[in-house]
Amino acid sequence: MNVVTRFAPSPTGFMHVGGVRTALYAWLFARKHGGRFILRIEDTDKEREVAGSIPHIIESLHWLGITWDEGIDKGGPHAPYLQSERLDLYHTYAKNLLAAGHAYPDPYTESELEALREKAAAEKRPFLFRDFRPAVTEPWDGTKPLRFKAPRIARYAWTDLARGHLGAGEEAIDDFILIKSDGYPTYNFAHIVDDIEMGVTHVMRGEEFISSTPKFLSLYEALGKTPPAFVTMPVILGPDGKKKLSKRDGAKDILDYRADGYLPEAMLNYLALLGWNPGTDQEFFSPEELMHAFDLDRIQVSGASFDEIKLRSINQHWMRQLSTVDFISRGNLSAPETGKLEKIVPLLKERAQTFSEAREMLAGEFSCFFTAPSLEHPKLVVKEPSSRPGMTLSALEGLLEPLTSLPEDVSAEVVKNTLMPLADAEEAKGKGGRGAVLWPLRYALSGQERSPDPFTLISILGRDESLSRIRKAIGILGE
Ligand code: GLU
Repeated sequence: MNVVTRFAPSPTGFMHVGGVRTALYAWLFARKHGGRFILRIEDTDKEREVAGSIPHIIESLHWLGITWDEGIDKGGPHAPYLQSERLDLYHTYAKNLLAAGHAYPDPYTESELEALREKAAAEKRPFLFRDFRPAVTEPWDGTKPLRFKAPRIARYAWTDLARGHLGAGEEAIDDFILIKSDGYPTYNFAHIVDDIEMGVTHVMRGEEFISSTPKFLSLYEALGKTPPAFVTMPVILGPDGKKKLSKRDGAKDILDYRADGYLPEAMLNYLALLGWNPGTDQEFFSPEELMHAFDLDRIQVSGASFDEIKLRSINQHWMRQLSTVDFISRGNLSAPETGKLEKIVPLLKERAQTFSEAREMLAGEFSCFFTAPSLEHPKLVVKEPSSRPGMTLSALEGLLEPLTSLPEDVSAEVVKNTLMPLADAEEAKGKGGRGAVLWPLRYALSGQERSPDPFTLISILGRDESLSRIRKAIGILGE
């Protein structure tokens, strides 16, 4: 089978994780089967349109590396891909339905409709357009809504590739509007015309469309076309696994994740697993691996909880895969000295789960690598046992000579092998122990109560800068 899928967002605001996941599944499925993936914009509801949405959608997909074979901005055999530029096509389909007796212009004015509604309410039955079809179908001049003459089918049944067998009773459908009085088609109508014209074979979309599926099926029937396969996405729940994901929980603009320092490959990896499982324990998937592993059978039915902790750990995994140079450039990291920054990258890989955290670390605790700290006397001696006054001063002085004997550029391991025996010796001398040496050393080098270990600090700062910082501390202690 020649698979064709599409992502068909309405330009009604920013892209969030739900929309991206729909696009991702449709894209992965097309790629897996060597098919085509289309990007179509459904802008028939002009009132809900939000300016700037289309470039935003395109930018989001570009960032994520989700590529389309045809679509808006790109063209293709079914251009244009903006529904508002395809009105003639919908009108042609509408006229054919009208001619075949499957549609009628809605003859009622607002006040006539109101009267009919009241009548139905008085009779205690639901108001249905199909109960008030006009006896004669007037010609359609385009100023009235065009309604579909819904067939009376007792039971609708269909198979959803993710949900299995689904069904609905005849109450599921009334005579719905195909073309509105403003000349624009409804979503119900336009997307079906487009899916037919574009040869779409699999439609991935959210749960909210299940209740409309009987409408879609009736339309396909009236048009004499076979419906595509329907694939319903699981709903995305908040971290509590109960409510639908809210903006606070992560349903934010997908580009905010970019600003927050998430990698697109991590977003794809995480979102793929948000409602689909590979059937193995594998947790990390590159986009290429996803294309191979993805299938429709393992899309889950129940809601999927958005778990930011998991997203962060997947992001850290992909950050750690980057070479030092890529880590710096993709993370938009900058520092006064590139050479030092390269040495700091392993520390960032260990500690940061997003690039914004890495940037914060560079501006915060790691700024000591670039600017000598100002030191406070009390903090230098905080670990000094009261029984050994002056111990910190002599311990730091004792480090100078062995440190001077080291090369300027030295590994943390060598520094540790050189200095640790001195700390051990202090420990042997009495109360205080290693910490009473290593703490003031670390503080003298970093000016911070929390920082990487002193050996790592020295290996990054270099011998001379480290010596100068230790001497400064010695000076303060001697005052
Ligand atoms: N334009 C619809 C939406 O954004 C798309 C639904 C569909 O994929 O058919 O919700």
